[in-house]
Amino acid sequence: PPITVRTLSEAIGHPSKDIMRILWNEGNMVTINDGLSEEAALEISLELGVELEIKRQETAKDRLTLSVESDEDPANLEHRPPIVTILGHVDHGKTSLLDKIRSANVTSGEAGGITQHIASYQVDHNGQKVTFVDTPGHAAFGEMRARGANITDIIVLVVAADDGVMPQTKECISHAKSSGAPIIVAMNKCDLPDADEQKVLQDLAANEILPAEWGGEIEVIRTSATTGEGIENLLETILVTAELHEYKADPKRDAVGVCLEAFLDEGRGVMSWLIVQRGTMRVGDVILCGETYGRVRAMYNDRNEEIQEAPPSTPIKVAGLEEVPSAGEFFFVMPEIEEARQIANDRRHADRAEVLSSRRKSLSLDDLLSAARTGSVSDLPIIVKADAPGSIEAIRSELEKLDHPEVRVQIIHEAVGGVNESDVYLASASGAIIVAFHVIAEDRAEVLAEQEGVDIRRFRIIYELTDTIKRSLEGLLEPEA
Ligand code: GDP
Repeated sequence: PPITVRTLSEAIGHPSKDIMRILWNEGNMVTINDGLSEEAALEISLELGVELEIKRQETAKDRLTLSVESDEDPANLEHRPPIVTILGHVDHGKTSLLDKIRSANVTSGEAGGITQHIASYQVDHNGQKVTFVDTPGHAAFGEMRARGANITDIIVLVVAADDGVMPQTKECISHAKSSGAPIIVAMNKCDLPDADEQKVLQDLAANEILPAEWGGEIEVIRTSATTGEGIENLLETILVTAELHEYKADPKRDAVGVCLEAFLDEGRGVMSWLIVQRGTMRVGDVILCGETYGRVRAMYNDRNEEIQEAPPSTPIKVAGLEEVPSAGEFFFVMPEIEEARQIANDRRHADRAEVLSSRRKSLSLDDLLSAARTGSVSDLPIIVKADAPGSIEAIRSELEKLDHPEVRVQIIHEAVGGVNESDVYLASASGAIIVAFHVIAEDRAEVLAEQEGVDIRRFRIIYELTDTIKRSLEGLLEPEA
């Protein structure tokens, strides 16, 4: 392939090891001369904060040259609204909170629009905007991350006060931590008589979410999606967190962002919910989104009003793409429709297997260890699924005994139960392997692991597990053959 780690490094002016590290984290154990798909090159550049332009040379159709748009002038950076995702156990009130926050901030005249499903919306709180993304569950959140689309700035973790931390809450905590985004807890359903605040705080602390009121760093806001109590406080806490992190973007450049979801509308053709991350999107812009492209014919905001332009952090519904793009796909504004068409076509016709193998080679324990050998990985992230709490305890304590000077075994998630889709997405997004102790993977998780190239290792004896890892770690110390 015409783009390699080396040529990309030269084009964007970032060390090749930074590029390789991103790919390794995705489970793609590349070397400096390995080829990259265009999509991977664009995504890596985006992750490194550089806008890459792929130019096609007239002479040879498959020759590509890379050039970097001179952007990211710090002088152009402006504050942008934070993008917030709400995660939590089923029935703890995610949808109710999203609805309440929105309805509290929508005037009655617009109430008709609120019944429509929207993928994301923006509210104005005391003159400051906050963008909420409606992710259908934490597996979808993990899926977006596994694809490299990390759009969330702040995570609101919902925990029902009458129920406390539940299995899915734990999965959400692992996803949230692995994403690195700051977490705010909404202790919801505080209106219920059997709400038990102390138990929730204890549960949180037991899961390494130490509440601020107990000297930790995580704000726990009491809310009720039913009465509206605490919603103001939640919005304020989000804004304070945003202020602390100073989220910025350049509104002057061409728009770049992510597709949240898309569908075919009988009257209007393909409609795509996009979120603009950087730049300003305008009606008439040409966009490339995954394997499709098009010219923005019309653009609507979250209130279904037609708009002409959308600055960073704005959720928009766009008409004009040729085909329905997948959720989690990046979009880029391109100068020429012909160029966008060509790249989209090439992507569509690229051998699917080849695209997958260039983006996600299987991430096995051996790959991780060989990456550790070259000094590029110092953590060995592991997800532990087991048949009983006692097994997890035993595995944890055995793994903690594996003391290695350079490589740290890090359990990023542990739970009783079979391997599920959330585990696979978490593993894929964080470059982890999954250890299944006396449990098996759910069918769908198995298929997904295959697709994502996630290594699921089954063990029946703890010694087997620790011995495998230990021997591999020790192998690192031996000189390379
Ligand atoms: P999700 O699965 O997390 O999206 O949860 P939902 O928003 O669908 O809420 C599940 C159920 O809990 C619904 O019947 C809601 O009406 C109810 N619920 C949500 N928030 C509250 C709350 O703050 N107080 C009370 N009493 N009920 C709530």
